[in-house]
Parts: sequence; C-alpha cells; structure tokens
Amino acid sequence: MKIILLGPPGAGKGTQAEFICQDQGIAQISTGEMLRAAIAAGTRLGEKVRDIMAAGGLVDDETIVALVKERIALPDCQSGFLFDGFPRTIAQAQALVDAGIAIDHVVEVHVADDVVVRRITGRRVHESSGRTYHVVFDPPRTPDVDDETGEPLTQRADDNENTVRQRLRLYHAETRPLVRFYTNMSATSATRYSTIDGDGTVEETKDAIAAALTGV
Ligand code: ADP
Ligand code: ADP
Repeated sequence: MKIILLGPPGAGKGTQAEFICQDQGIAQISTGEMLRAAIAAGTRLGEKVRDIMAAGGLVDDETIVALVKERIALPDCQSGFLFDGFPRTIAQAQALVDAGIAIDHVVEVHVADDVVVRRITGRRVHESSGRTYHVVFDPPRTPDVDDETGEPLTQRADDNENTVRQRLRLYHAETRPLVRFYTNMSATSATRYSTIDGDGTVEETKDAIAAALTGV
C-alpha cells in the first residue's frame, strides 16, 4: 500500500500518519522529519536547508526528490509507505509519476487556516523521538516534559505565527494545486482520492481516515 497524506502544515498529518502506518504495517516517510534530522546531525544537507525551513520556505524540488528516492529504496519500504509532507509541489508529484511510482490512495486532510495556526503555535516536540504534543489539545502529563523519557520538550524553530502564515501562503500557492492533480489522476487510473474533515478531534479524524482507506 502506498499512501499520500495531503494537507496544510499542522493539519495533524504526523499524528495520523503514525496510526495509519501501524495499522497498515507500512513505513512512515516525513520529509520534514528527515530534513530536521539532517540539521541535527550537522550534515551538508542540514546546512543547506536550515535557513529555508526556519523562514517557512520550501526546499528545492531536486533535493527533496533525491532524498525521497533514496529513502524508498530501503528495505522497510518493500511492503509500502506513507508520505507525510511530500509531495508539496506539482514538480514533486510529477517526479513520482516519471519514476513509475504508483500511489494507491491520496488522503487529503482538510483543516481551516485559523485552526492550523492554533495547532502549530501550541505544538511541542520531543526532539529525539519526534513525539508531538499540544499545550491545550494534547498536553504532556507535566508541562514541557516528555511523558516517556522525562526529557524537555521544545518548540520547532518554524512553529511561530509569522512563519506559519508564510507556510500557509506557500501551501495555498504550491501544494493545493495537487488536489486537482490527484483528483484528475484518480479519474484516469487506479489511484483513489479521499477528502477528510480534519477539524475534529484526533479520534474523529482517525476514524474518518480508516473508513476512507477501507472504502466504507
Ligand atoms: P509541517 O509538519 O508543519 O507540515 P514539515 O515537518 O512537513 O512541516 O516540514 C517542515 C519544513 O520542511 C517545511 O516548511 C519546508 O521548509 C521543509 N519541507 C518538508 N517537506 C518538504 C517538501 N516536500 N518540499 C519542500 N520543502 C519541504
Ligand atoms: P502536521 O504533521 O500536519 O504538521 P501534527 O500531527 O504535528 O501536524 O499536529 C499539529 C499539532 O496539532 C500538534 O501539536 C498536535 O498535537 C495537534 N493536533 C493534531 N491533531 C489534532 C486534532 N485533531 N485536534 C487538535 N489538535 C491536534
């Protein structure tokens, strides 16, 4: 099974990706996580993307496509994978087509812009595991502390209101056109396309996605 989770920053893609991947036994591929890992490791790639990400910009298509192609060649992707945060541009989606990578299901998580801003500004992360919390909607047992390890939680460099507005602008300009790209594809191929309302609770969204994936 090959799935794309499409939606604005803060839609809950990472939260839902974990449930889906566990359920389906497929690999979770988050290009954002991979880039943050490169920054943390101090690699050349990390150096190249740090400022772009902090400003809420998009990393160039060539870099992202190369990263993804390398990732999906690894053995854990044999039985399928889920893309979270990729593709973000028509060029990235077209690169998948050109590489002969057929997607089974594209799930669009639709969330209003003001909800996105509230979710992102309250997001807290445990850096080494990628575990995500929200100060109001999903707080840790002790404020600013990871439930599992007791280590401090941090706020991503790009999770502030200014940068979120910029990321939303880019989402509408560069990523939203993928809705038409994939609805057209679903009319002419075996790829399925579903839109889910992501404004509800984590559980409601999870159930809606599960229903879409099983075709209920
Ligand atoms: P969010 O979870 O808020 O949607 P991500 O973790 O997916 O954010 O991405 C964080 C940042 O990493 C993006 O704002 C962008 O700078 C960069 N990035 C991640 N994936 C891509 C991509 N597919 N194309 C271009 N840039 C990307
Ligand atoms: P994305 O990967 O799309 O950027 P995340 O899964 O990281 O989004 O979620 C963004 C923030 O919103 C996190 O702080 C998360 O805890 C919170 N969140 C996720 N889903 C919901 C939901 N359905 N209702 C309220 N908050 C949510």
